[in-house]
Amino acid sequence: MTEVMDKVQTLQQFINGQWVDSASGETLDVENPANEQVIAKVPASGAEDVDRAAAAAATAFEAWQHTTPQDRSLLMLKLADALEERADEIGRLESRNTGKPVQVAIDEIPVVVDNLRFFAGAGRVLEGKAVNEYMAGHTSLIRREPVGVVASIAPWNYPIMMAGWKIGPALMAGNTVVLKPSARTPLTAILLAEIAADILPPGVLNVITGTGAGIGDDLVGHPKIGMVSVTGDTDTGKHIARVAAERVKRLHLELGGKAPVVVFDDADLEAVIDNLKTFSYWNTGQDCTAPCRVITGPKVYDNFVADLAASVKTIRWGDPAEGADIEMGSLIAKAQADKVEGMVDRARKGAEIVTGGVRPKRPGAYYEPTVIAGPDQRSEIIQDEVFGPVVTVQRFSDENQAIAWGNDVRFGLAASVWTADIGRAMRVAKALQFGTVWVNDHFTLVSEMPHGGFKESGYGKDQSMYAIEDYTIVKHVMLRI
Ligand code: NAD
Repeated sequence: MTEVMDKVQTLQQFINGQWVDSASGETLDVENPANEQVIAKVPASGAEDVDRAAAAAATAFEAWQHTTPQDRSLLMLKLADALEERADEIGRLESRNTGKPVQVAIDEIPVVVDNLRFFAGAGRVLEGKAVNEYMAGHTSLIRREPVGVVASIAPWNYPIMMAGWKIGPALMAGNTVVLKPSARTPLTAILLAEIAADILPPGVLNVITGTGAGIGDDLVGHPKIGMVSVTGDTDTGKHIARVAAERVKRLHLELGGKAPVVVFDDADLEAVIDNLKTFSYWNTGQDCTAPCRVITGPKVYDNFVADLAASVKTIRWGDPAEGADIEMGSLIAKAQADKVEGMVDRARKGAEIVTGGVRPKRPGAYYEPTVIAGPDQRSEIIQDEVFGPVVTVQRFSDENQAIAWGNDVRFGLAASVWTADIGRAMRVAKALQFGTVWVNDHFTLVSEMPHGGFKESGYGKDQSMYAIEDYTIVKHVMLRI
């Protein structure tokens, strides 16, 4: 596919094991945001396409739900192997569609592969509560049933990784899937379907391409879809929850974030700055867990701001095609660069732009790595998700204020606390209302441990046994004995 992508090609979607155009024949342009070139066309799905995909998945579910965990595991392991073999091709394609550096995109594939392998095993040890006699003359047992057809709606920031995180637990729990990638980044999901076509039975994994506005409600509201899993913006999640409520559908919502980084005066500042230089600007800051909101102790604040800015200035950014030394690529689209520019410009009034704050005049969706010092806690730049290469730094007066500011946002996905005092680390980790809290680190996740939000960051977990449980329904079976 990478070779053919050198020419603009019209791709198809994957329904019931077949490659098909949209029912209307209409297509959507797919761009490389690093240079604004159209690189492919994909079907612009409509309600009829959703209907075909949901029907195919529902039919496939009839047999798939009765396969053994071992059967499903063997197929999942094959899929993981096949992705691993084509990691280079998938990564290169992802880079062209997202503007992220090529090696960064290639390095995401082992993460997806590990996740699928984890779920291939986890699906075999999924269990209910022990059988017991809770009433005389009766034995009770718990079954974990698949939900049925899952609509997996993926975002544009990690297109193949989020697709993998969704299909692993859903399929291993015995569900079938209709995957809808973001209309901006459908290419690696189509490649995933191409790879899975030789491994999974027809209809078990369907990939349809379309915009959220175009087919979102049809998909979420479709009577054959039993559960909706979405990773995306909090407003998108709220809209989907409203539509899903009509049929009381099960939901799995991985939404926005605004991660605080609480740095006490006794922290290893060099380690904090190393971490932020890499991970605040990873994926051009388009990461829901990005360490973007630093809250530092009163003594270290001034030096910290200066040292962070000096370090951030050295980040090499640009079009990934310019060379392997590009550390930070473009944003996903000009619209995203507009959003970042607008938020930074509005922040100028009450805060200092220490470095960056510039939208380069060149084709492509670029914004310079930025550090903003001293914004007010109630300001937009602190309260809302920028989803770009922007870090704010605030000065707290004591531990209570650090915790209060850390929690004072509507999101609750990820946070970190940096200190040499183990007791304080544990106190603050407990007090922070976020789904993941790192101590003296920020960013790394593992397949065995859950990832998911508190508050408006959503509910339901990715990764870990908790994710696979989310894709099942608990059933009580009671036998008279
Ligand atoms: P988005 O909300 O614009 O789109 C996400 C997906 O939802 C896309 O596939 C889109 O087409 C679809 N969609 C949009 N409107 C819809 C509708 N009405 N009905 C059904 N589907 C609809 O999000 P995005 O801009 O692609 O991704 C960035 C967002 O994702 C950020 O807010 C980020 O924090 C969040 N995110 C969260 C996590 C997490 O684990 N919590 C991980 C990655 C990204």
